[in-house]
Amino acid sequence: MAFAEEMEANIYSRYSNPSVEEFESKMASLENAEMAIATASGMSAVFACFACHLKQGDHVLLSQAVFGSTIKLFENFFGKWGVSYDLVNSTLVTDWQKFVKRETKMLYLETPSNPALEVFDLAAFATFAKAHQILLVVDNCFATPYLQNPIDLGSDLVIHSATKYIDGQGRVLGGVVAGKKDLVSAIVPFMRNAGPTLSPFNAWILSKSLETLSVRMDRHCENAMVLAQFLESRNEALYVRYPFLKSHPGYQIAKSQMKAGGGIVAFELKGGLQAGRQLIDRVKMMSISPNLGDTRSIITHPASSTHSKLTQEQREQVGITNGLIRVSVGLEHIDDIIADIDQAMGK
Ligand SMILES: *Cc1c(COP(=O)(O)O)cnc(C)c1O
Repeated sequence: MAFAEEMEANIYSRYSNPSVEEFESKMASLENAEMAIATASGMSAVFACFACHLKQGDHVLLSQAVFGSTIKLFENFFGKWGVSYDLVNSTLVTDWQKFVKRETKMLYLETPSNPALEVFDLAAFATFAKAHQILLVVDNCFATPYLQNPIDLGSDLVIHSATKYIDGQGRVLGGVVAGKKDLVSAIVPFMRNAGPTLSPFNAWILSKSLETLSVRMDRHCENAMVLAQFLESRNEALYVRYPFLKSHPGYQIAKSQMKAGGGIVAFELKGGLQAGRQLIDRVKMMSISPNLGDTRSIITHPASSTHSKLTQEQREQVGITNGLIRVSVGLEHIDDIIADIDQAMGK
């Protein structure tokens, strides 16, 4: 009966696996979702969500401030498969109105966003999406379910790159889609047939990681807040972005929808490209890597690394200015983190 698919049984890991199911049920419960599905990476979660909920002729509204690969999926694949999209460069829901078409099926955003930490009012976007009968999908990677639950605020689906804070220790890739049962179960046939399944070993790692998520996030957030305040007190930075700093344009919204400000701090060096390069060259303790959400502090200067191939104009379109630095604040002692930045900023 199991082989004829007349009953559910663990017959093949592309179909189902007990370790993967354990991780899925933990993620569903953390996100207050009816159901969650685990995938091999964050990007396969994003892809599966689009592939199962969009068809030829549909239109999607994406925040300009989403993960680069998410936009690439439209540029390289969904575009040629007949799905159109618009990138919207505003955190104000009223600015999105003029982009809505009769074919608009999905609204996709990340809050706080990467790397500029823009904050979107999830309840307001949920009301807007409902009014237009559009699915609201939120990438909750930066906040984690410990700090923010988009479903409670009216989102239809939540995406995670479990590679980041869920693992939190830079070991494995993983992804999650969570939400209402009908919306998540629509993804199951794609997972079973296309196979971007989470490996059972990674599921076991990620399940163990969830046991320390709250402890790690408390420390990430506490350290990040102190670092943000320190940077604001220095005069090398033109501005510092951290959702729980009063100077953040989305401070009130962040306070209302997040338990704490998260583990990422961004700032703009007055000295631009040159100052950014110099800071990266001088740090001693922090890792220089494109990952984030690790136990160790990681510093990135997108203009001279991940986005160096783009022109300055192209970078500015995606909110990456020449002096922008992103720190994924780790679990080290805060004095060591500050000492490293302090010595790297030098005179
Ligand atoms: C890293 C990341 C992803 C992609 O996740 P992978 O696990 O690397 O595939 C998606 N969204 C955000 C916000 C990310 O930071």
